Amino acid sequence: MEHTEFRVKAKEMVDYIADYLENIRDRRVYPSVQPGYLHKLLPKEAPQTPEKWDEIFKDVDEHIMPGLVHWQSPHMHAYFPALTSYPSIMGEMLSSALNVLCFTWASSPAGTELETIAMNWLGKLLGLPDCFLNEKNDSPGGGVIQTTASEATLVSLLAARTRALMELSKLNPEVQSAELLGHLICYCSDQAHSSVEKAGLIGLVRMRYIESDEHQSMRGDQLEKAIASDKEKGLVPFWVCATLGTTGSVAFDNLREIGQVCEKHGAWLHVDAAYAGSAFTCPEYRHWLDGVELADSFAFNPSKWLMVNFDCTAMWVKDSTALHRTFNVNPIYLRHENSGKAIDYMHWQIPLSRRFRALKLWFVLRNYGVSGIQKHIREGVRLAQKFEALVLADQRFEIPQPRNLGMVAFRLKGDNALTERLLKRLNARGYMHAVPACFKGIYVIRFTVTSSRTTNQDILDDWNEIKTVAKEILMDVFG
Ligand code: PLP
Repeated sequence: MEHTEFRVKAKEMVDYIADYLENIRDRRVYPSVQPGYLHKLLPKEAPQTPEKWDEIFKDVDEHIMPGLVHWQSPHMHAYFPALTSYPSIMGEMLSSALNVLCFTWASSPAGTELETIAMNWLGKLLGLPDCFLNEKNDSPGGGVIQTTASEATLVSLLAARTRALMELSKLNPEVQSAELLGHLICYCSDQAHSSVEKAGLIGLVRMRYIESDEHQSMRGDQLEKAIASDKEKGLVPFWVCATLGTTGSVAFDNLREIGQVCEKHGAWLHVDAAYAGSAFTCPEYRHWLDGVELADSFAFNPSKWLMVNFDCTAMWVKDSTALHRTFNVNPIYLRHENSGKAIDYMHWQIPLSRRFRALKLWFVLRNYGVSGIQKHIREGVRLAQKFEALVLADQRFEIPQPRNLGMVAFRLKGDNALTERLLKRLNARGYMHAVPACFKGIYVIRFTVTSSRTTNQDILDDWNEIKTVAKEILMDVFG
């Protein structure tokens, strides 16, 4: 494809995208395809000769689109939001055209500096303490964009592991690191996301799961008890992951209590606020951040609720030297005249290369402004409240855990099997899409308001769909 054709076809693509997003409400949100459907439709090998763009794109419309879940649909209620927005798409377009790699300051000075600036803006917008910002050249703290919350968790665990091993080695200079590793132990709640377990598996460290309280919240006293007992056994607690906004029920661990326990025992505290972090742009939700100054690292996904398209995880650390110690390799081909004087983000992450993701984040922050972002978050919560009220007004349904933010976990009263059947049938019909969760044996449907396009009418339509299917199921079972 040459410049002239690109000018024409890319403009057509922009229209295609705008039409898609404008009319997304009319699409079936969940596809009705079976595994292998695409293999039957596409050739087994790449073409020998160049194909015309129109031929290629015809296959998108005919074969690819029918096999997608439409995540931007107002009837998408599964998982958490994965929102995009026009300024974000523009950032992604420009960044893929420039395709600069921002691993050192020298590899892309503006890419690096814009990331620091955008992360400072975002940190302030969330009300994070200054120790997480990087406003002066010698600030130890700062923000970095990671690919996913899973990666931020792993980065944090590895940095804490390095710190702990260095301290242990000082006390036991004759013992090998591999042996010291066997003494390390870290903690998270029994409600933490599976990515925390995965970080422990990759980090080769033991993980203890702390039983959450009746509100699915990890509390300081339970953590203290576990740590004290592990210390008696000769183990070394080195890292704790607290969750703000759990995946199952958007529950909040008690950050202040946990932070105090971490401080007492010298453990690194990481905060995983993958979904709920976006809500802290609104001051009325910041009470859940109480104690955040006790954390060593904090991460959330603007790629979830903040309308910055995937991938974009915002991570802040208090002491970036802990990341440097963990990830610093310094081959001659990556050194530059300003090494040590400017941020080289390659030392803050696992891979070397990194995309210019700051651009789309910066575009979203500027184009929505603080007021636009707050309006979007508040509207999502309002619509979830509306759905909650509809469920509570119907005697056949219940909400076992209180709603927080934009997610309502609801069920049909009675056996789990009823709600399981309800969800299965809803997803098979494809009008709306949701996924389940289970709280201490109670099966629920998670209904998350995901889309920035959701209206009151969409919520009413989804509720009518749920009531219709529920009626059928209750008739099937009870006659
Ligand atoms: N942490 C929490 C609390 C989550 O809810 C999720 C995903 O929804 C993750 C981590 C994983 O996020 P990612 O896909 O960015 O790794």
